[in-house]
Amino acid sequence: MARLAICPGSFDPITFGHLDIIERGSKIFDEVIVAVFNNQSKSPLFTVEERMELIKVSTKHLSNVKVDASDGLLIDYAEEKNAQVILRGLRAVSDFEYEMQITSMNRKLDSTIETLFMMTNNQYSFLSSSIVKEVAKYKADVTDLVPVIVAEALKNKYRNR
Ligand code: ADP
Repeated sequence: MARLAICPGSFDPITFGHLDIIERGSKIFDEVIVAVFNNQSKSPLFTVEERMELIKVSTKHLSNVKVDASDGLLIDYAEEKNAQVILRGLRAVSDFEYEMQITSMNRKLDSTIETLFMMTNNQYSFLSSSIVKEVAKYKADVTDLVPVIVAEALKNKYRNR
């Protein structure tokens, strides 16, 4: 049976931290679907379509990675795709409590789908989409933090604001 993992998140926008988890996941699983979940409470900067396009370009070197979007419940999405695993990244201890809560709920909803965590690469442990947006807003250089296409997209967004 082919092993499929869903890598869910807001990806507003994708950073090198996300990409590190996706790349490492793609070596372990037969297929990885990066799924953009539209969390309106986070007031996203990029539309779902823009976020998907940035992920597609950033992962085009990974032949077993697909990009998708959903506005439903993650566990329903994972069931629908017949995924065995939900893959999440862990940065600092601050991620832990939130992830525990979500994982416990998902396990209650469907105990056959495992949530697996990958520790971030040390160099990305303080990297988040929010911090990238904060810095990019003031026109600082973010090319160490995100793929070039994302840095360009951020520049364009903030130019028009
Ligand atoms: P969410 O809104 O679901 O937290 P994010 O887009 O912020 O979505 O993150 C998606 C996933 O990527 C989460 O599992 C998150 O912990 C992980 N992630 C985000 N940034 C990093 C990073 N710098 N290193 C490792 N994992 C990360």
